[in-house]
Amino acid sequence: MDGRFAPSPTGELHLGNLRTALLAWLFARSAGSRFLMRMEDLDTQRVRPGIEQTQLADLAAIGLDWDGPVVRQSERASLYEEALEKLDVYPCYCTRAEIREAASAPQGVPVEGAYPGTCRELTTAEWTEREAAGRTPALRLRAGAAEVEFEDRLLGSRSGVVDDFVLRRNDGAFAYNLAVVVDDAEQGIEEVVRGADLVDSTPRQIHLARLLGFPEMSYAHVPLMLGPDGARLAKRHGAVTLADRGDPPAEVLSEIAASVGLCEPGEPVTPAELAERFDPARLPVEATVATL
Ligand code: GLU
Repeated sequence: MDGRFAPSPTGELHLGNLRTALLAWLFARSAGSRFLMRMEDLDTQRVRPGIEQTQLADLAAIGLDWDGPVVRQSERASLYEEALEKLDVYPCYCTRAEIREAASAPQGVPVEGAYPGTCRELTTAEWTEREAAGRTPALRLRAGAAEVEFEDRLLGSRSGVVDDFVLRRNDGAFAYNLAVVVDDAEQGIEEVVRGADLVDSTPRQIHLARLLGFPEMSYAHVPLMLGPDGARLAKRHGAVTLADRGDPPAEVLSEIAASVGLCEPGEPVTPAELAERFDPARLPVEATVATL
């Protein structure tokens, strides 16, 4: 099944990101499928110049390759616009603080982090008041608390209730959940392999894909790499990128492969050799702790 890696060019890839990329590559290449590269660069406030090139160079240095040109979300606004026009959306004027407050009220929200629905049924007077206050709205999908079940290739059966999530932010940027669904379908992706931190976004994305009439994806959420303190791996943990390691990239490849049991520690391997013996059923499901 055709796959992809879709980093956000907001910082250098750390060992956990490189391992996710390797696993996504292995899922695709071990099945003789295409592997595509997409830069998720919609968040212009967080994108850092030059990081895309560093990320691509690091992926190539550990021996990964991809098919066709790198796709950039910042160049695909018309596709997202077109999808947005097909969806039932409403303007939402809430600030983050207001959402937090409404969600913690006694009637609250059924799922942590879900939108409490404040702007869903605004009266004309309420709407006029918000507009008059000069607030710019985000656009939310009217999701009708749809329940979505799916089968993850590594994590098994999962389900979630879809809240009215944002499709376009109030600064005009298209939201990750919209762009990812449109791009995966438009690029012909069949299997999404990514970090387990994104598993909770999957019901939203499946729901959106169904509304847009896109084919169903297969999903595999791979284990995260944690720092020695148990928090998600980050720069502050020390030598977490290829550059800070200073080791030959082939050694780093062997290290990240060994961390999920794909080879013995210290064994010299190439991605092609790993693809030959790749068996997703033998991957761990739990996060692992980086050796730094
Ligand atoms: N751009 C997202 C990230 O870097 C990944 C999106 C995805 O794989 O669906 O976390």
